[in-house]
Amino acid sequence: MVTLVPPSRRACLRCGRTEVWSTDRTTWVVAGDSESKGELHCVHEWDITGNYNPFEESA
Ligand SMILES: [Zn+2]
Repeated sequence: MVTLVPPSRRACLRCGRTEVWSTDRTTWVVAGDSESKGELHCVHEWDITGNYNPFEESA
């Protein structure tokens, strides 16, 4: 069964860190406990970058 991944979850293509969008905290939080924190100094390259942006900022 195929499960669609909503844009409320993202994973780093480099270190494997997975985060989920917290509507309560309005920020990304690490998914799970501590097994998917990934690299501390990784310049995360999110798999959803480019096609989803929760912010509407006009830099
Ligand atoms: Zn990363």
